[in-house]
Amino acid sequence: MARHLITSAIPYINGIKHLGNLVGSQLPADLFARYQRARGNEVLFLCATDEHGTPAELAAAKAGKPVAEYCADMHAIQARIAEGFRLSFDHFGRSSSPQNHALTQHFAGRLADAGLIREVSEKQVYSIADGRFLPDRYIEGTCPNCGYDRARGDQCENCTKQLDPTDLIDPRSAVSGSTDLEVRETKHLYLRQSALKEDLEAWIDTKTDWPVLTTSIAKKWLHDGDGLQDRGITRDLDWGIPVRRGNEDWPGMEGKVFYVWFDAPIEYIACAGEWAEAGGLDASAWERWWRTDKGAGDVRYTQFMGKDNVPFHTLSFPATILGSGEPWKMVDHLKSFNYLNYDGGQFSTSQGRGVFMDQALDILPPDYWRWWLLSHAPENSDAEFTWENFQVSVNKDLADVLGNFVSRITKFCRSKFSESVPAGGAWGETENALVADISARIQRYESCLENMEVRKSAQELRGIWASGNEYLQTVAPWSTFRSDPETAAMQTRLGLNLARLFGVLSSPFIPDASATIVSAMRAHSPAWPGDLTDFLTAMEPGHSFEVPEVLFAKITDEQREEWQQRFGGTTAS
Ligand SMILES: [Zn+2]
Repeated sequence: MARHLITSAIPYINGIKHLGNLVGSQLPADLFARYQRARGNEVLFLCATDEHGTPAELAAAKAGKPVAEYCADMHAIQARIAEGFRLSFDHFGRSSSPQNHALTQHFAGRLADAGLIREVSEKQVYSIADGRFLPDRYIEGTCPNCGYDRARGDQCENCTKQLDPTDLIDPRSAVSGSTDLEVRETKHLYLRQSALKEDLEAWIDTKTDWPVLTTSIAKKWLHDGDGLQDRGITRDLDWGIPVRRGNEDWPGMEGKVFYVWFDAPIEYIACAGEWAEAGGLDASAWERWWRTDKGAGDVRYTQFMGKDNVPFHTLSFPATILGSGEPWKMVDHLKSFNYLNYDGGQFSTSQGRGVFMDQALDILPPDYWRWWLLSHAPENSDAEFTWENFQVSVNKDLADVLGNFVSRITKFCRSKFSESVPAGGAWGETENALVADISARIQRYESCLENMEVRKSAQELRGIWASGNEYLQTVAPWSTFRSDPETAAMQTRLGLNLARLFGVLSSPFIPDASATIVSAMRAHSPAWPGDLTDFLTAMEPGHSFEVPEVLFAKITDEQREEWQQRFGGTTAS
């Protein structure tokens, strides 16, 4: 039994994510986790919310809530939506957890002990009225370039010019509007990533099975310009993990917190601790996934993320781990995705453009979305959601091919035989050929899933359903029945067994429909198929079943038009 540690990039806390975010990490990670579990492997699948930093503070202020309360509420909402999409996390944690506090402080202490942290004095804008330092984006003023009066301290939204807060004319605090600002000196900690450059490069060079795109992105960051830069790991904020050196105070760092980029990936590890605690397990339960000196030597670790996150996962987080000098499990495989666009443009929260995760579940069950998103995953290039394409895909693949097959064979059997598998007849050439064909397809399906080729695996699965449909169409037991009921019984028996096979094979993609089929076949938690002949004769004559409810309703043109209108955003006609 293989052991798979699987993490999805952790979504930021400030709001509900859109379908592009879902297919960019969580959903394909779930596909992989479900597949590995179905193959009988041991899986620990983790995800969490990323809760610290300035945007969380701003969103909480906008919502009129204390930031801790805001994060707790949003975490509960994101967790409920994840459940709605059947994302099978073993734990959905929080980067604000006590485990992450302790571990982040631990890593910082180890890095300091190794001489990999340096202190830097910086000048930063302090708001006397607010009693705090202001991050660049908390300062507003008039753009010196275009005169826009609400430019932010890091960038002018109007002319896109990169700015320093001191460039702004009439700067004011975005928190209170106060203009009582001054520049003060403040001290911050920097991670000496430049000192880890060679270690990182040597580690990346061992990853010969990574896609060239991934390694080339990492190498570009290592070498471009002056090479990998040291990076600040602390901020003058209230909300976050207090800066401590392991268990001890860090003189000069009082009142400061770790920068969110530093603590967020450490949550991948901390989340395993949260998982153990939630299950009443001790530390050894999670350490055997994460510490190579405590049992994680045989773990295969796969990370899923959007392409913009690749440098972070190939350099920043590994720098933290390598720098600690401790035997933490490092990533074996990285699966990254391009972007999903929405109907000729981008998803936009501010314009209400595109389908967000909660809205999607309001209008259709999760399997419809899972199927479309995974079968159109933006793997090799960006992909685009259109309602026409969605309608065609759901109606053809799910309703006409899979749904129709299951409905047709179960209803036919009920009407001509009974609600149990009929006896009589024996397989002939056609059946043997079908089994050989489907066997070959299953092998390809498995290999695609193993290699995380998401789109291709969907194609293979659809091909397997289609083979069953073609078989039924060709042998037509409803015609055979009139002249040769024995043969019709054999064909029907095979058809029912195929329905059960489709139920099992489809479970990583469409878990609800899969469970409905398997339960209608009264097949109790059947294992993944080994020998296909055995599998397709497992439901013997006399085995009872029931006709399931309609598995997939077709999307009508009226529905499609209504949704097109509703989710088109304020800029759509
Ligand atoms: Zn401007």
